[in-house]
Amino acid sequence: MLGAQMPLSLRWYTSASRVGRRLERAIPTTSSTASRTARSASRQQERRRNRLMVLNESTYYNEEASREFMSVSQFKNFQKCEAAAMAELKGEYVPERGRALFLGSYVDEMLTGTKESQYKFVDENRAELFQKNGKAYADIAQATAAIKRIREQPLMMKYLGGEHQVVMTGEIEGVPFKIKMDSYKPGEFIADLKYMASLRSPNLFQPMISYWGYDIQAACYQEIVRQNTGKQLPFLFVVATKEKPAHLAVGEINQWNMDAALETVRKNIKRYQAIKNGEIEPERCEDYGCDYCTTTKIITEPIDTDLFGMSRAQIRISKGEV
Ligand SMILES: [Zn+2]
Repeated sequence: MLGAQMPLSLRWYTSASRVGRRLERAIPTTSSTASRTARSASRQQERRRNRLMVLNESTYYNEEASREFMSVSQFKNFQKCEAAAMAELKGEYVPERGRALFLGSYVDEMLTGTKESQYKFVDENRAELFQKNGKAYADIAQATAAIKRIREQPLMMKYLGGEHQVVMTGEIEGVPFKIKMDSYKPGEFIADLKYMASLRSPNLFQPMISYWGYDIQAACYQEIVRQNTGKQLPFLFVVATKEKPAHLAVGEINQWNMDAALETVRKNIKRYQAIKNGEIEPERCEDYGCDYCTTTKIITEPIDTDLFGMSRAQIRISKGEV
């Protein structure tokens, strides 16, 4: 049995007030408000939609789903590096999934999972959670402490108290799009749980939410929910940081930021889809921080040593090409 190794948050589970969780909630796409404005386009889309797979929580992340639907993380991957995003879709490149991702799923699971799914999570991830002596790793203990403090915050729990992991599909600029919401209260709000480094932005000149592309996420989720239900809902971030002590916050992203982010998605999504369809060649970013470009680069000629460490964009600027 789990016994002494069971993380604290599992023990709190029984006392936490929770709303019933619908594990599998596949919502087939219906006519969107947007498509009503363009009848013929709508009929075309309808035909295509009928051929698309129906997603639910278990098929959401599979390869077929990634090929058929754009998602927020896929869109952000394309924004970062088209070549890397495409190589990943083709299964030629598997980016390193760091510890951060695991910690995020741990916090997510412990706050929004069912008792059964939490036990399953612990059982499947023992090696990542516990040291050989049975004690939780320091970062897990720290996350567990943050979870405990979140549970003591009624407002945070309110926004985490919607339906969990709700999947919906729709279209943006005619591109099939899938979303999966951490917490969704129909007619009231969409909320997303973030366990992140800091509330402060790594870039002094850009707010944290847009630095990490969370405005893109909020905008797409809001739009797809609107297409499915006709309602434009507020989007809230329920945040705990990895600092010591953890900062806790609930943030509502303003509509202006979401509108601007959706505009960014509309501007780029057709190009990314064309790359997915094999109609356009993906561009390599050649960024110093891009693992894909770094490991697949073919060196063709010596470069000026002053250009060492610069990205393609920086080199263009330094040559006065931009
Ligand atoms: Zn790259």
